[in-house]
Parts: sequence; C-alpha cells; structure tokens
Amino acid sequence: MAILIDGKETAKAVREKIHSEVEAFAAETGKRPGLAVVIVGEDPASQVYVRNKHKACAEVGMYSEVHELPADTDEETLLSLIARLNADEKINGILVQLPLPKHLDEKKVILAIDPKKDVDAFHPVNVGKIMIGDFTFAPCTPAGVMELLHHYGIDVCGKHCVIIGRSNIVGKPQAMLMLKENATVTVCHSRTVGLADIVRGADIVVAAVGRPKFVTAEMVKDGAVVVDVGINRTAEGKLCGDVDFDAVEPKASYITPVPGGVGPMTITMLLKNTLAAAREQLKK
Ligand code: NAP
Repeated sequence: MAILIDGKETAKAVREKIHSEVEAFAAETGKRPGLAVVIVGEDPASQVYVRNKHKACAEVGMYSEVHELPADTDEETLLSLIARLNADEKINGILVQLPLPKHLDEKKVILAIDPKKDVDAFHPVNVGKIMIGDFTFAPCTPAGVMELLHHYGIDVCGKHCVIIGRSNIVGKPQAMLMLKENATVTVCHSRTVGLADIVRGADIVVAAVGRPKFVTAEMVKDGAVVVDVGINRTAEGKLCGDVDFDAVEPKASYITPVPGGVGPMTITMLLKNTLAAAREQLKK
C-alpha cells in the first residue's frame, strides 16, 4: 500500500507559511506583495481559476486585482494594460490567464510581461534562467510537484526520474527542476519508443500526458514514487488523472491522487512566486 501524497494538506501548510512570511514582509516594508491577474473572454474554467487565485491571495494577506477584458479585446489594449502593470509599484506579479482567444498572440503577450513580474515563469528570460539553474521562480505546476516531494521527504538526488510529457509548462521545466536537484532524468513523449520499459526503470514517475489511465500497473516498478499531474474527465464527467490509480497504488511507495494531489499546489506556488518576486523587486 502506497503512502498517499496529500496535496490539500501540503498546500494548506505551505500557504500558512506564506501567510506568516507575507505579514513579516508587510511589517518590514509597509507593502503587501501584489498580484494582477488578467483574463480575456468568458471561458468558465478560466473564470473559476481566476476567482480562486484572487481568493487565495486574500487568504495569505496579499494584494490582488483582477482585470477582466471582453473576448474581442484587441492586442494593443491588452499590451498597454500589461505595460501599465509592469510600471505599477503595487504589482509584483502579473499573470495572464491562458489560453487567450485565438486572435491574440500568446507569445507576444508573454514577451510583454516584465520578466521580474512573470510569476508563471513563461517568459523566455525565465525559461533560460531555469535552464541554467539560477532562478527566482519556476512554473507553478512543476514547482508544486517539487514542493510535494520535499514535503514528504522524497529526495530526488541520484534517482531515475521519468517524466512523461514534454510541454513547456509542465514536462520540460519539471525535468530542469529535477536535474537541478541531481536526479537522473528521462523525458518521454508521444514519439518515445519503448516507453513502458523506460517507465518501469523509474524510481520516480511524473505523468503529464493528459490521457486517463495512461500509466498502468505493468509500467511501474515496485516501490516507485508516482506523481500524477494529469487532469482529465471520464465519460461520466468525473475528474481523473493520467495514472490508473487503483491498479498502480498497491505497487507504489508514494502516490498522488487526482483530485487532491498536484492540483492544489499550483495556486500555492503562484503565491510563493509572487512573494519571491516582491522580495526581489525590493532589493533593486
Ligand atoms: P500537453 O501540452 O498536451 O502535453 C502533453 C504531453 O504528453 C506532450 O509532450 C505529448 O507528447 C505527451 N503525450 C501525449 N500522448 C502521449 C503518448 N501516447 N505517449 C507518450 N507521451 C504522450 O499537456 P500539458 O499542458 O503538459 O498537461 C498535461 C496534463 O497535465 C493535462 O492533463 C493537463 O490538464 C494537466 N495539467 C495539470 C496542472 C495542474 O495544476 N495539476 C497544470 C497543468 C497541466 P508530444 O510532445 O510528442 O506531443
């Protein structure tokens, strides 16, 4: 039987720590770390994420503002809002909720954010910093995975970590974060040959594929740590991950559930990044 990695409990503990650090920051500087969240259009899932981010900021004593723009907002309007937020001293972190409506160029929008305020860490400057292992903050989901592993005392040093998925927001930065902590990392993707054998060799598996039950019991060695980043819906509308949880759990040493595993960590890391950005900006 595996030990369940409880993302809710971990997120709560990390947020309590962030809250006390925010209060200490405010006492010392007279300022509160500030996050601006920009949403374009009325995608219901994005609206929920944005509301949750706003609420999470308030809970840890941070300042936050939400900028809701209509779906037909033109590029110039969005870029000028970002320029205004870049210059606003109350704002330490800027997050543009993705995906953007099709007529807006996501790359251009990400490039417009001041890298020092890019708390999603999607700007190429921050991506480069992660690559050289010298960064203030990392993308929230892979950073959340590392926080979970640390919280449970799971050291990746010397371990073979197999990451399934190579997206810019999860798989690739996950590989860099694990490499920085001296893991031996293999990244698999849709063109990987012999994926099951590779995953069977893993001490730690991170699944970020976006396919329900992709990781089966046959693919996991006894005692492996299994981290499930996937968020999928079953035909019945139930939330599920990329791992066949019921079959894999008896073989694993530690495993994250979906929901309640990696998910709750993502916003928590956004708060952590905003605090880190505020501290960095104060230094300058
Ligand atoms: P993505 O951009 O679609 O990337 C999926 C990756 O999986 C790609 O690298 C793809 O390979 C690989 N893949 C797809 N089919 C495969 C197969 N049959 N064999 C091996 N590899 C395969 O997705 P993402 O944004 O990284 O997200 C992955 C999952 O995590 C999704 O379920 C998403 O909802 C979830 N997610 C969760 C959180 C959270 O907060 N918990 C945050 C972000 C994402 P190619 O590159 O070759 O196409």
